[in-house]
Amino acid sequence: MTIATPRTGTTDTHCPYCALQCGMRIAGKTVEPRDFPTNRGGLCQKGWTSAALLDSPGRLTEPLVRVNGRLRPTTWDHALDLVADRLVELQAAHGRDAVAVFGGGGLTNEKAYQLGKFARVALGTSRIDYNGRFCMSSAAAAGMKAFGMDRGMPFPVEDLRRADAVLLVGGNPAETMPPFVQHLRDAELVVVDPRRSATAEKAALHLQPAPGTDLALALGILHAVVADGHLRHDYLAARTTGFDDVWRIAAAWWPERAERVTGVAAGDQRAAAALLARAANAFVLTARGTEQHARGTDMVSAWINLALALGLPGRQGSGFGCLTGQGNGQGGREHGQKADQLPGYRRLDDPAARAHVAAVWGVDPESLPAPGVSAYELLDEGPRGLLVFGSNIAVSAPHANRTTRSLSEVDLLVVADVVLSETAAMADVVLPVTQWAEEDGTLTNLEGRVLLRRRAVRPPENVWTDLEVLHGLAVRLGQPPARFPVEAEAVFDELRRASAGGLADYSGVTYDRLRDGEALHWPVPAVDHPGTPRAFLDRFAHADGLARFVPVDHSGPAEPPDDEFPLQATTGRVLQHYQSGAQTRLVPELAAAVPEVHVEVHPDAAARAGLADGDLAAVVSRRGTVRARVRCVATIRVDLVFLPFHFPGSGSANLLTNPELDPTSRMPEFKVCAVRLEVA
Ligand code: SF4
Repeated sequence: MTIATPRTGTTDTHCPYCALQCGMRIAGKTVEPRDFPTNRGGLCQKGWTSAALLDSPGRLTEPLVRVNGRLRPTTWDHALDLVADRLVELQAAHGRDAVAVFGGGGLTNEKAYQLGKFARVALGTSRIDYNGRFCMSSAAAAGMKAFGMDRGMPFPVEDLRRADAVLLVGGNPAETMPPFVQHLRDAELVVVDPRRSATAEKAALHLQPAPGTDLALALGILHAVVADGHLRHDYLAARTTGFDDVWRIAAAWWPERAERVTGVAAGDQRAAAALLARAANAFVLTARGTEQHARGTDMVSAWINLALALGLPGRQGSGFGCLTGQGNGQGGREHGQKADQLPGYRRLDDPAARAHVAAVWGVDPESLPAPGVSAYELLDEGPRGLLVFGSNIAVSAPHANRTTRSLSEVDLLVVADVVLSETAAMADVVLPVTQWAEEDGTLTNLEGRVLLRRRAVRPPENVWTDLEVLHGLAVRLGQPPARFPVEAEAVFDELRRASAGGLADYSGVTYDRLRDGEALHWPVPAVDHPGTPRAFLDRFAHADGLARFVPVDHSGPAEPPDDEFPLQATTGRVLQHYQSGAQTRLVPELAAAVPEVHVEVHPDAAARAGLADGDLAAVVSRRGTVRARVRCVATIRVDLVFLPFHFPGSGSANLLTNPELDPTSRMPEFKVCAVRLEVA
């Protein structure tokens, strides 16, 4: 294996993992934090150890092709010829949509853009979606409904430092992005989480609702806002529309009624309303705990309604935002790897959008496919060929038994990745690609800030960039070579033109401006435009400039507990691991700290199941069984168990999860399903 070789000197770059995109400096094989607005010189344990990814023994360094059931090394030409030939055969035999493409929220903007173009132009398939469907799509859908635009956090994180109060719903940044917590230090914090998480420990008020009842809680607090005289009538009149329809529902959710459904004391609901209302500057933030539900879009809408009633969104020093999780979770959903979108956050079913993007791509708008289907549906309908870039579906998708079966039935599974993930291990062809510090590329962090991650080390010599892979395949599929450039900056310049005039307008962002260190939050519609750190200050993105209240009501989880499965399970992250764990499980320090899955259980629930701390439990749902070591904690609700989702095989939390989809966002209900506990 060729070890990644450092260039001389140091390079300012950003962490390979989450959406905070902490600033770091890489020198040789070491990283150190640098001052950047999101991390102010801090890094979490994942960031500090990230250089270990560069020469991990688990690193893929040559293309692999399955022969007689085993993956064997081969040449790039052979691997790409084989893939292209099989794709042509499959599409000739079964139609264009028989081949699907699956992307990732960790891919750079350039890769996400090029992947969407590759699917729709080189393959002509409508079947493209990505793993961001699993983590941000409900927030995106709710943001579009309310504000006419989805920029997860439409203000810089530094604004939080001047907040007097912050309501954080369904997020645990103390573990998922620890440097973020410094921005909340001076605020009174209200945390909504059925677990007393590390973040909830820091809260002035911790509201611990029954899983899947967040919407009822939001309605109860909204009722208290109105009943206790906190409604911002001036703001409602000037900047919003639709409150009356929302109040028709919320009027029936007095806090005592919400208490009966959620378990959160009516007094605590009123206290939360008062705490937010009396704050001069306040924010409402949501995260995956709010979104990953079969009614996740409605749940986010409910918290947006509360923020609007308090007059927060679009006000200097206050606001509403969603904490994006994946490194390029924001940019990943803007450039066309989503089933229904074109670059610039344009709709694929909009004729003007199709015409604009087709002109940039040099193709006939009529040749572009119609919108496809969402990530889980794409897997579930059984594609004959599947190309996966930057995603470990076998671990990260819901209902893992079914997903794994779908993957095993694909005629041609191709995975481009840095390591032999669980999905890559199932593939017919594995393509080794460069990682963060070995390539240039831009990402858009949780604030909508576009940043440049620079190449700092040479990749192993037989490893290609994803852009080179897409170029190689596109040419073999008959595309002109110039249509699929391999230089990141060239792809970005095309992305700028494709995004011009769209919601996510990057046309004024250039590599030169990013190299000069400018902080450019989209939209940036001209090269002399300073960017838009704070969106919505004057108007929201709907045509009339007003934000929309969206009427929503509580309905509970898709799979409530019953006699057979009397508990509920929820999933989430631990500090040391990231997403499916494909990278972090290869970092020795992180793997040693948290080597396997565990299940958090209330001591009373454990005792009822005949289990004690440290025992091996079977957590059983209608879809599968996880074997996990019991961790008894009195800080979790007695009707709930929690499992981290970073582990494969019999430790995969997604063996349990329910693939019931949100009707709007098509996000699965990862965050709650019915289970029982047994002695393993
Ligand atoms: Fe920062 Fe996130 Fe990286 Fe941790 S994982 S160092 S919080 S970007």
